[in-house]
Amino acid sequence: MTKPTETGEWARRRTYAIISHPDAGKTTLTENLLLSAGSIRAAGQVRARGENRRTQSDWMKIEQDRGISVSASVMTYEHQGLLFNLLDTPGHEDFSEDTYRTLTAADSAIMVLDAAKGVEPRTLKLVEVCRLRDIPILTFINKMDREALDPEALLDDIQDKLALDAAPMQWPAESGRRFKGVLDLKRDEFLSFGHADDDRSPADRAPRTPMSSADLERIVPDGELARLREGAEMAREVCPAYNDQSFREGHLTPVYFGSALRHFGVRELLDALAEVAPGPQPEPAVVKGQPATIQPSDPEVAGFVFKVQANMDPNHRDRVAFLRLASGKFKRGMKLKTEKGKAITVSSPILFFAQDREIADEAFAGDVIGVPNHGALRVGDTLSESGAIRFAGIPNFAPEILRRARLKDPLKAKHLKKALESLAEEGVTQLFRPVLGGDFIVGAVGQLQIEVMSERVATEYGIEVTFEAAPYDTARWVTGSDAEIERFADRHKSAMAEDIDGDPVFLAKSAWEVSYSEEKWPDLKFLRAKERG
Ligand code: GDP
Repeated sequence: MTKPTETGEWARRRTYAIISHPDAGKTTLTENLLLSAGSIRAAGQVRARGENRRTQSDWMKIEQDRGISVSASVMTYEHQGLLFNLLDTPGHEDFSEDTYRTLTAADSAIMVLDAAKGVEPRTLKLVEVCRLRDIPILTFINKMDREALDPEALLDDIQDKLALDAAPMQWPAESGRRFKGVLDLKRDEFLSFGHADDDRSPADRAPRTPMSSADLERIVPDGELARLREGAEMAREVCPAYNDQSFREGHLTPVYFGSALRHFGVRELLDALAEVAPGPQPEPAVVKGQPATIQPSDPEVAGFVFKVQANMDPNHRDRVAFLRLASGKFKRGMKLKTEKGKAITVSSPILFFAQDREIADEAFAGDVIGVPNHGALRVGDTLSESGAIRFAGIPNFAPEILRRARLKDPLKAKHLKKALESLAEEGVTQLFRPVLGGDFIVGAVGQLQIEVMSERVATEYGIEVTFEAAPYDTARWVTGSDAEIERFADRHKSAMAEDIDGDPVFLAKSAWEVSYSEEKWPDLKFLRAKERG
């Protein structure tokens, strides 16, 4: 392993996220990837979150003092001379816009599918978000040790539902109790599952047998072997072949099979990630009013805030802003400026590093640092040395939960407006003002966002308000010519609103209503995400 020169440090960063529908096995895969890379010693640590805390580094103190849980936000490990930053994407109950925003800080993603279920609704949404930036996606089909759908059906599902070319890199021999392992299509070698899960460690690669070897018949019985050969032939002839460029452009996904729980295929996935995942990419920006591209090798330190985590104790105003570095070599104590000229000395940044690596005070493009602040930093902000750089910003995503704010004391309407606007600017929830009537509609992609907002409106602004169901299912930003938007708005007065920037939004009663409008109004676009900035 050669040690890259310091100037090339950024080039060995691989920053990625794992996306999946709940219960497909994201947590189990994360644990096993980290175990496999040797970064954590005992399984269960990811799940246990804060229980096994390290005590030395600053960020742990920050967590303890201020009750902010950041330990699992970025998990870092080294493998094959590369430094991987695995960004945690909140799931299940804590699913929120942060989950989407985190994907804007990743250079690639692993999509985990449950082999018995294929593409599920949340996977679909997360892939849509990856597509906004054409993030390359690797697919891991998990739970092959359980009865699975046919591999053909799984690949078709990816192709049909996600409009992604699915290039099988492996072909499975059976599933469930009969699961024998997978054929590595490139090397024409069989990786056996062997059912010896007690002996297998996550770091082990599966034993390989050449497909031409007579030994194979002892591993895969006759009939199954014929089926495997047939499947592999079909895969080679009919399925899209892996193509690096299509993968990097986000049009094609290489597909791997395995069982995270039984440590099968995880090491191979780790190797695949090292082989194909891209490093930090150039970021579009505006510099002094001119469009520009910031290269990861540029010397000036610059990055964007993709997530702000509030203190769990509402009486503290402390926040941690997660800054994804896009260029330069960050050093502790550096003074950085927002695009509005606000200067911040980053004296106690939260740096995430592999456990066995010396604690360094530096970070590079591709890395994420946590910047403690008292509310000065917001989602989408740029920080740079000169203050002259502005990145495109983090988009807003079409909310799926819409609530009407109902005041106990109608005289507080102005206060409420201010509170909701400020929380929307911060990125906690979104705010919509219907064109007709005086309601405030708040929007979120996850229930937790609504709860956090409710709590903060009550404790920080002292306003008594209830959030009741609104008769809308989702919202879309409407773009097109002014005249066409006006015609549409005229016909849909009761469903039109403005967002916090005054942009027109269509509040739809159902997904069907959205597709119907798209068909009826071909000159308009109904966007699921809006770039802010
Ligand atoms: P997450 O919700 O996506 O994080 O999913 P988890 O990792 O928590 O897994 C959900 C459930 O599936 C748990 O009960 C896991 O033990 C189980 N599971 C995960 N991976 C596998 C696998 O490869 N095989 C089997 N049989 N079960 C698995």
